[in-house]
Amino acid sequence: MAGNWKMYKTGQETTAFFAGFNPLVAGTANCDVVICPTFLSIPAAVAAARGTVTQIGGQNLFWAKEGAYTGEVCGEMLVAAGCQWVLVAHSERRQYFNESDAETLKKTQAALAAGLNPIVCVGEKLDERKGGKTEQVLIEQFAGGLAGLTEEQFSKVAIAYEPVWAIGTGQTATPAIAADAHGLIRSEAEKRFGKEAAAALRILYGGSVKPDNVERLMKEEQIDGALVGGASLDPQTFIKIVKAA
Ligand code: PEP
Repeated sequence: MAGNWKMYKTGQETTAFFAGFNPLVAGTANCDVVICPTFLSIPAAVAAARGTVTQIGGQNLFWAKEGAYTGEVCGEMLVAAGCQWVLVAHSERRQYFNESDAETLKKTQAALAAGLNPIVCVGEKLDERKGGKTEQVLIEQFAGGLAGLTEEQFSKVAIAYEPVWAIGTGQTATPAIAADAHGLIRSEAEKRFGKEAAAALRILYGGSVKPDNVERLMKEEQIDGALVGGASLDPQTFIKIVKAA
């Protein structure tokens, strides 16, 4: 169960979140719990979550290890700051920063080389779903962003299916729609990496997950967890989602 804080919360606000969240999440053993704050709030999150079950992740990374790349942060820096996870190719990165499938692959490989667990995001836009192109989009994103990994690399990756029309809109995919898409992604994984790898793959659903819809989603065999934006910003709300795992 992963929270994506997007461009919200200062370091102080991050510390305040964990003061509320730590006692609530204590004892959670049935899932991994991950929070992805902004780069600047990572040190505060790592310090506040130390000794708890919550793991910290970045929201993005660059593929080079170092160099003249103004404004970028690499996987090794995230690890040095205490991160274990990183989001790759969130739809907001694809939409506002033109990130491509080829870049997704490079970033995923760089994350793995640094020792991070990548959560690679895929998902169709509204016009693509309306135009009957959902399958094609997911197959292309898998082929361009993930199929180039080795089997060993792929075993460390989680995928988040995030239909773009459901992110931040309050319009969640129905459990059946999400399960269909997850099934398709898993079958692409099976074709490329084999049955065992596909069965072990964790596919998270993301898109307006809230306490009142999470249980129905988690009942689907195909859905292994959630990537949560807005509803991860408040400890009382996010804990209800975590408990649904
Ligand atoms: C996200 O940011 O990945 C997301 C799914 O956002 P929200 O839960 O707010 O739709």
